[in-house]
Amino acid sequence: MKSKYQGLNSKRRRKIRNIVCRRDNYKCAYCGIDLLSSPMLFYFRSVDHLEAIGNGGNSLDIDNMVCCCNICNNMKGDYVANSIEDARQYIENRRLEFDSMYLVEKRRFRNSWFKKIIGWFW
Ligand SMILES: [Zn+2]
Repeated sequence: MKSKYQGLNSKRRRKIRNIVCRRDNYKCAYCGIDLLSSPMLFYFRSVDHLEAIGNGGNSLDIDNMVCCCNICNNMKGDYVANSIEDARQYIENRRLEFDSMYLVEKRRFRNSWFKKIIGWFW
């Protein structure tokens, strides 16, 4: 399988990621979170290609990249956005979906017999 990064090794990818994130002040282009506010967020910094590489976007052109958090990048997935605002809206909607899934799962798990039994032994 051909790499979507066109032969860029991980060191060069990291370098590009840092250049893009510095240019964007380490703020996620989609949710606006400050990626320097904790080590965990810094670790989760990522770069998104505005025009997907699979759609002919240039994987080396930093004008085609924005700094973002890994969560937004994952939420965006393969969605083809026609603007940053469009991507932002799509990600926001997916996050709302995940928020409700989270609440349902948390409530279900916290109240489950499984958790209670585990709780007896731990
Ligand atoms: Zn984000």
